[in-house]
Amino acid sequence: MSTAPKTSAGRHLTKIIGETYMDLHTRASQGAFVVWIAINVPAELFSGFDNVVYSVPESHAALNAGKGVGPVQCEKAEKLGYSIDLCSYARIDIGSVSDGGKDSPTFGLPKPHLLISNTNNCSLLVKWFEVHHREMGVPHFILDVPFCYEPQKEKDRQYILAQFHDLIRTIEALSGQKFDMEKAVRATEHTAEGIIHWKKFLNFAELRPSGITAFDSFVQMAPFLIMRGTEKFVAHYKLLAEETARRVEDGIFPVPDENYRLFWDNIAPWHQLRDMSATLAAHRANIVGATYTFCIGTVEGSFDRYEYDGKDPLEYMARTQNSYVCPHGMSLRSQAMIEAVKRLDIDGIVFASNRSCKPYSVTQMDQQRIMSEKWGIPAIMIDVDHADARKYSKESTFTRLEALLETIESRRAP
Ligand code: SF4
Repeated sequence: MSTAPKTSAGRHLTKIIGETYMDLHTRASQGAFVVWIAINVPAELFSGFDNVVYSVPESHAALNAGKGVGPVQCEKAEKLGYSIDLCSYARIDIGSVSDGGKDSPTFGLPKPHLLISNTNNCSLLVKWFEVHHREMGVPHFILDVPFCYEPQKEKDRQYILAQFHDLIRTIEALSGQKFDMEKAVRATEHTAEGIIHWKKFLNFAELRPSGITAFDSFVQMAPFLIMRGTEKFVAHYKLLAEETARRVEDGIFPVPDENYRLFWDNIAPWHQLRDMSATLAAHRANIVGATYTFCIGTVEGSFDRYEYDGKDPLEYMARTQNSYVCPHGMSLRSQAMIEAVKRLDIDGIVFASNRSCKPYSVTQMDQQRIMSEKWGIPAIMIDVDHADARKYSKESTFTRLEALLETIESRRAP
């Protein structure tokens, strides 16, 4: 999110996010079968049914944080007895559910018929969905996806696939609807095509000055989370990539006098996007890439997109279960980061130690050491919470960011 006026893709994004949430409420009120899912759950699978709609509490929590109501929602959960040390996404969601979505920009989420969590990002999410399972009396399906320390093993993929088949049977039994594989194929084709445009958009970060900021990419992730598998998803990312190409051709760059190219590690600081990007731009610095967004559409530890072969969509969904960073071991994380650092010609890395997301943060000190000692890349560690603004200090963050810029400058040839 740069401080420049909104682009067509920015306006279009606002429109389709609003439409998607309102459509969700409308279809739920008209009898659709509603599932709540963790972000890793393959949403294309639901397109195989006539009338199943999904919503993503993590994404809804991020939207709350971006709209400035993260702390308000967190406090509701804390008053119910949930610890302030719990992930802020969980606290926002539990807080929002507690009063029927009163402060939510989307009026909350429609009540689910089924909860589907996934173990491969974190086990906290399973416990969080268990709270809803108990409070709402709704069934909870847990997808158990193994952590990965190397490319996915065949036996792990088969284990995941068996669970997808079980999930399909469960939805069929609960909703009374039949699963149609052809529809799931079309949805997966849409996802794969949209990701081609998404990757084109991200690759404008390779230019000097960069054609994008990581803040733009954070904001533009939303369709990947809430409208995968749809024509709307493809159309949006096509618009985004084409508009960015035109802007670059016309010489429009988010930080035209860019002098420092930085890389971000961890979830986006949703409550600080505008302020942080503007303050950095004033220092002629741009965070041009992030592990959080580069991993989308890839498989473990790679930089380029993983291609769909047009065959079994469940195979593709199972193979891409390890795209996100959290389930990766140390060597995969380092491999992915150094690849991005080289391709984007990065001057320094910002490790955002996240008080909420322990699975993302736990390896960061080792990763920082590897990047600095083995690869000679200057790096700092800052303290953030991705959705709870009460745990963020601009002053101490920018003291460290300025120190990073000074270190980069001091290493440059006179
Ligand atoms: S702890 Fe991290 S991975 Fe787990 S739900 Fe929170 S943000 Fe997601």
